[in-house]
Amino acid sequence: MKNFNIIDLFEEEELTETSNGEYNTICPSCGLQGGRTQGFHLFPDTNMAYCHSTGKNFNILETAALKLKIINCVEGRDSGEKGTPLKGELFTQTLDLIKEKYGEDFYYNLAEGLGLNIIEKFMDIEYDKDGSILKKTISIDKVADYIISKHNIKTVEGTKDESIYIYEDGIWTRKGRGLITAETEKLLRSAARNNIVKEILEKIKRKTKEDKEDFDIEPSNLTCYNNGVLDFNDIENIKFIPHDKKYNFKTKIPVTYKKDADCPLIKKFIKETFYECDVPQVQEWIGFHNLKPYLFKKAVICTGPKNTGKTVFLNLLSRYVGEKNIAGLSLQKISQGKTFDLLTLKNKFANIHDDLSSKDLFDGGGFKMAVGDGEITGEHKFGDYERFRNTAKMTFACNKIPPVKEVDDDAYFDRWLIWIIEKVVPSEERDTDLINKLTTEEELSGLLNWGLNGLSRLFKEKSFSNERTSEENKDMMVQNSNTLAKFAAERLRFAAGEKITKDDMYNLYCDFCNEQIPKLAPVTKRKVGDNLHNIASYILDSREGKYRYWGNVKWVECSDVSDAPQNNMRNILGNDKNIIYNISPCVTSVTENKTNKKHGNTIKRKKSAREVQFLEAKECQNIKANCTVEEVLDWIKSNPGKTITDFYAALGDGSFKFLAELIKANKVKQENNMLELIA
Ligand SMILES: [Zn+2]
Repeated sequence: MKNFNIIDLFEEEELTETSNGEYNTICPSCGLQGGRTQGFHLFPDTNMAYCHSTGKNFNILETAALKLKIINCVEGRDSGEKGTPLKGELFTQTLDLIKEKYGEDFYYNLAEGLGLNIIEKFMDIEYDKDGSILKKTISIDKVADYIISKHNIKTVEGTKDESIYIYEDGIWTRKGRGLITAETEKLLRSAARNNIVKEILEKIKRKTKEDKEDFDIEPSNLTCYNNGVLDFNDIENIKFIPHDKKYNFKTKIPVTYKKDADCPLIKKFIKETFYECDVPQVQEWIGFHNLKPYLFKKAVICTGPKNTGKTVFLNLLSRYVGEKNIAGLSLQKISQGKTFDLLTLKNKFANIHDDLSSKDLFDGGGFKMAVGDGEITGEHKFGDYERFRNTAKMTFACNKIPPVKEVDDDAYFDRWLIWIIEKVVPSEERDTDLINKLTTEEELSGLLNWGLNGLSRLFKEKSFSNERTSEENKDMMVQNSNTLAKFAAERLRFAAGEKITKDDMYNLYCDFCNEQIPKLAPVTKRKVGDNLHNIASYILDSREGKYRYWGNVKWVECSDVSDAPQNNMRNILGNDKNIIYNISPCVTSVTENKTNKKHGNTIKRKKSAREVQFLEAKECQNIKANCTVEEVLDWIKSNPGKTITDFYAALGDGSFKFLAELIKANKVKQENNMLELIA
């Protein structure tokens, strides 16, 4: 016996050491006193024991059986006798009890010491009449039954292969084959030959067969998490219930539900990364991922330059949902709707793709089908087709929305939630470890709670907060993808009789591109000439002799957000959007009537804070400028040749009110982004 000694079966206080290094104790069976007298004697060198009352000998396993009251000391062996009282059932029972009482490590340690004897539990043994073993064969049934009793196993037959699932921590995974092989190895040791292992595997498969259709059914309104299940049957009263194998979950969101957890770091990150008016949508979108059915027909595009937190957000969403629960199909592949590709969406919580290509933005039909609760068809590698409901919520990202083809497809544009993420984090403020700080267990538990609040609101309102119409989405996508359209929407207005020379217009356009964050690449002068009047139909393409100009148009410094929903306020007023929010305390709320085509009725849409402040700022009397009108005049006078950008950098954002007044009163002229006093 290598690792194990007979005295380990006893507690230290039960033992009295004798002068020659052996031990006395009380006989576990008859109770004959040990101590000073010789009651029950232990021989650590040979791992044997002797009862002075009955005069019988016991090996280590028999001694354990005495302690476990399986045999008594009259049943021991006489000196030199080879047979054991622990036969058949008694042997099995002893091993089971040893494992139960002393634990698995002790048990396998003992087994190691006993050599192959351990597998006798899994053997069919024939004895002759005096108890000697005649024949031993491994019982495939006993091993299979033992492994089945120890684990939850289900074998699900596919058309061309079958999967052995085991249930662990709330979900069924396909780890069955590996587990059974390892268990067999552990139980049978050197007797675990290939053919035996294979036979055991086949036996377990036959004994645990499960109907595929039954096993595929998971309750659609329940979702599994690390420590239990959320029941969404009543969104107003979401319940947290224990794991149960009966739900047949194959996946879980790897987050621990904690009723009171909060996520201060994630909330701070989201507040700093997204426009304020988009934050409720972000919250609802995260909440939406907890529920499998795709009940709201929306997909997300995050667009903006690098180093804006866009990728961190996608990684945060991925870690929340769990890498295993994500497909990564491009929009193009989804649009093409190839069944082989679509199968990868099955049972996923999300589809996240970080690189929208220019081939993407038209729909071959697959996209509209996949976004929503409709059934789609997937194809297995062996050519079997399968219908399933897509559950993978679609999130795409791009630096810039690729050119949008001129398609008149309201249903397509209506599918999008578009988030512009454009606050570039300066390199000295970038935290390469941010994602790890945001995804601690506690933060993710807090994100779950935060998302659940969004989910409740989504169901209550039956739509996402601040949803745009399909027309608004289309405008936004066109402008985001087309610098000239963006320029026209933000800076040009109809003005009967006014004109701008073609040279000036091109310079204005180039300046505009140059001012954007990040800078945009302008198209050629010729393209502007060919396309501008198509983009802004009120513009006249005119000439007077050599003098070529655009007619019926004026340039505006501030854009009107009602024309340009994604308006980039910060490009005009500086980089700190908090300043923007603070300059207009007089405005409380503005609502406007908008026809929502989807529902066919008129709804009141509350304007976002960003929109309200932009619209109202020009009229607002209570703007707290951080300078005076005299300072504005002084600065322009003493800084000839400086641009408007320099002007705002010097005088602050509030100064735009005075500048607008001075221009209106013809005291200051603004040309090509330069300011000049009019004498
Ligand atoms: Zn005894």
